[in-house]
Amino acid sequence: MTENSNSAVEFRRRKRTFAVRGILPVLLLILAGCVMMSWALPNDNSAFMLLANALIFVGGMWYVISAKRYYRCPVCEKVVVNTKEDGTPSEISFGIDYSPSVCPYCAAVLK
Ligand SMILES: [Zn+2]
Repeated sequence: MTENSNSAVEFRRRKRTFAVRGILPVLLLILAGCVMMSWALPNDNSAFMLLANALIFVGGMWYVISAKRYYRCPVCEKVVVNTKEDGTPSEISFGIDYSPSVCPYCAAVLK
């Protein structure tokens, strides 16, 4: 029982780390990309359009990489993904489960 609550505490800590190091920079990158895009479009500046697209693309990549790095189950060290209808982990689409109660791989308590 103590081990279960420990995994929940550790998972909450990892979620916070992911929010600060994964989601926050991505929001800033995509926001910067959108601002740049809204400036480049009426001015027909293709160089800045390219840069804006690159910023948004890097934002998406950063999100996936940091999720793979920080958003893991503390017990089995696997990324906590969404589960399919039958409860097995879905690895095809890279969707993270933001409020899992148990790990889809090892059933450790995360909440
Ligand atoms: Zn696990």
